[in-house]
Amino acid sequence: MIDFEFAPQVNAQLKMYHAIAERMMRPISREYDEREHEKPWQFYNAMWSMAQNLGPGASPEKSPGDKREKSEKADNGQKGDGAAKLRNLYTCLSTEELCWGDAGLFLSIPNPGLGGAAVAAAGTPEQKERFLKRFREGEPKWGAMAITEPGCGSDSAAITTTAVRDGDEYVINGTKIFCTAGQMAAEKSDGFVVVWATLDRTAGRAGIKPFVVEHHTPGMTVTRVENKLGIRASDTAMIVFDNCRVPTNHLLGSAEVNPTGGFKDVMATFDATRPIVAAMAIGVGRAALDYVRDFLAEHNKPIRYGISPRRLTAVERDFMEMEVELKAARLLTWRAAWMLDMGMRNSLEASMAKAKAGKAVTLITQKAVELLGPLGYSRKVLVEKWMRDAKINDIFEGTQQINLMIIARRILGYSSKELN
Ligand SMILES: Cc1cc2nc3c(=O)[nH]c(=O)nc-3n(C[C@H](O)[C@H](O)[C@H](O)COP(=O)(O)OP(=O)(O)OC[C@H]3O[C@@H](n4cnc5c(N)ncnc54)[C@H](O)[C@@H]3O)c2cc1C
Repeated sequence: MIDFEFAPQVNAQLKMYHAIAERMMRPISREYDEREHEKPWQFYNAMWSMAQNLGPGASPEKSPGDKREKSEKADNGQKGDGAAKLRNLYTCLSTEELCWGDAGLFLSIPNPGLGGAAVAAAGTPEQKERFLKRFREGEPKWGAMAITEPGCGSDSAAITTTAVRDGDEYVINGTKIFCTAGQMAAEKSDGFVVVWATLDRTAGRAGIKPFVVEHHTPGMTVTRVENKLGIRASDTAMIVFDNCRVPTNHLLGSAEVNPTGGFKDVMATFDATRPIVAAMAIGVGRAALDYVRDFLAEHNKPIRYGISPRRLTAVERDFMEMEVELKAARLLTWRAAWMLDMGMRNSLEASMAKAKAGKAVTLITQKAVELLGPLGYSRKVLVEKWMRDAKINDIFEGTQQINLMIIARRILGYSSKELN
């Protein structure tokens, strides 16, 4: 049976997230888009204290990616304590609400972020406890994940950053770029960066492992913070690792270089984070749709549902197509997240959700600007900002093209060597 009804407790939490988005994010949205590198500390502090009071599941500070054991599987358990069992699904729901408010601010909220997702996906139970527990203990902290390098993005198997064992430490050397929340995680808070480095370049993908590098670790330096097109409230950092030493128990998971093990930790991390990025896109797309719908209604041109298609205006037809795109992306996203909660392999579905949502939000926000005419293009309203914020969903966590290629590989049964 398919059940899309959420428990009253989850609906109440979503209402609360919507109120945060509307009352706390929207009013400062333009300001922190324009003042790109300034930090909205009042907002961070308020979000952090609120996060401490929330239950499991629907809260953005919880690390996604924890796959449930079979015995914990939800038996259609959305009711009662279902929120704990459907953590990834509910993270997507809260993400959509908050990104309806502002995607850049959402990415900058103190939370384990992509770094937490990597710990959850690749860490041992002891490491998850050690590194993620602190996020629940009340100090504002940020997590970030650094894979991309000046010479490698889509092809993450080409990572050149190295980790060399020296006694009971690893010594990390290399440069990472475009690291979301990297500045906050590395410098400004009690946070951490999960950096992907190779133990053995001759081993290819199998040699690449994630390492937790705590904030202020000597040898880790933020050398640049990017100026960007969109999501400008979120910091995107270049981080240089120069003989940066971490204890050996900061290597997440096993140090064994297993040639058949491949890239599974990176993939497991993406399986968890792609549905969340898709949910971000859906939040931004919904913001644009809501704005256009209200605008048309205020100007005595409400969208007329249920009438014959031949009587629809061109604007109504466009709007309905935008709505369909958004709903299709949302269903794919919920499915991918739900599968993860059920402990099912979701790589195909996670890429489908990410590819569809990235494309949908790009189309929806561009169309929203177009439908509103000069107002849409002006800075009087946030629609042009949402168009700029939307595009990143087609780039990070695997570009549109890369996700389509993963989908093709999985459906057609090709390996990454056969189809690239
Ligand atoms: C704002 C922002 C935040 C980011 N945050 C993070 C982060 O937190 N951590 C992190 O590690 N990285 C992050 N990234 C980096 C992001 O993941 C990469 O930019 C992305 O993976 C693409 O890599 P690239 O930039 O090297 O582009 P390239 O890989 O050089 O790709 C360029 C173009 O070629 C296409 N292309 C590449 N290979 C193929 C192929 N085989 N077939 C078809 N088309 C292909 C791509 O789709 C793209 O359109 C961020 C980037 C941005 C802009």
